[in-house]
Amino acid sequence: MAAKLPRAKKRFGQNFLVAEDVLRKIISASEISRADTVLEIGLGTGILTAALAERAGQVISVEIDRELYAEYAPRAAIYPNVRVICGDFLREAENIFSGARGRLKVIANIPYYITTPILEKLLEYRARLSAIILLVQKEVAERICAAPRNSAYGSLTIFLRYYADARLICLVPPECFRPRPQVDSAVIRLDVRPELKYRPLSEKRFFNIVRGAFWGRRKTLRNTLKQSPYTHYTAAMLAKLEQETGLDLNRRGETLSIEEFVRLADVEFA
Ligand code: SAM
Repeated sequence: MAAKLPRAKKRFGQNFLVAEDVLRKIISASEISRADTVLEIGLGTGILTAALAERAGQVISVEIDRELYAEYAPRAAIYPNVRVICGDFLREAENIFSGARGRLKVIANIPYYITTPILEKLLEYRARLSAIILLVQKEVAERICAAPRNSAYGSLTIFLRYYADARLICLVPPECFRPRPQVDSAVIRLDVRPELKYRPLSEKRFFNIVRGAFWGRRKTLRNTLKQSPYTHYTAAMLAKLEQETGLDLNRRGETLSIEEFVRLADVEFA
């Protein structure tokens, strides 16, 4: 019989995991050992925290909700290797990373309302991370794991895959949470590369071209690169781009691989 759950606060994105099989899949995909320090965003009722504490060397869990913290941090404290911090992860990140040693694994059922800020913050600290295993909205998981020519492939895909390999672990239906979210979910694993795989001459230009290319999804590269607020290519520059890369600018951004975006970004103009 499951323990009584607290009343969920929507404003904190509280959807508590109640499915043991999903918990097992998260744990198995995370390949945790006593050598790992794990960072969890959102203690909640501590269901995931306990499973992490049984396997990891150390677990740091951050919870923004003072009431949940007051109720569940003392329960998590039965594990001597767990430290719970009461605060907003987005504000606490700097303290957490400066206070922890080595590379961390982030394993969390994150609040969906701040998915993008969390991903951006984690990438800021990517040098301190080895892997990120997250429960996210299914649509976000699809965008992160998409291949070119897939309708989910876009700037988020490239932004994350520039730094990490990504794979979908499993889909998770709403019944696995209380309360049930309105959307389907999925577990993903990102392996942050210690060395960059892609090396554009200018990262700024590379990311601007990517943003520009997806600015108008149904438009050709020729049009987006000319019209987007991130790129200001003239007709002469586009001709040079096409000539030097051999890429057909009548293609749409969603058909280009990351390597092809690097080729476009590496064309320099005096
Ligand atoms: N880990 C628990 C589980 O799996 O059942 C809770 C997951 S629930 C989807 C997300 C948790 O993150 C909630 O406990 C919520 O209060 C907490 N949270 C929301 N925003 C946060 C933030 N900015 N920093 C830290 N925790 C946050």
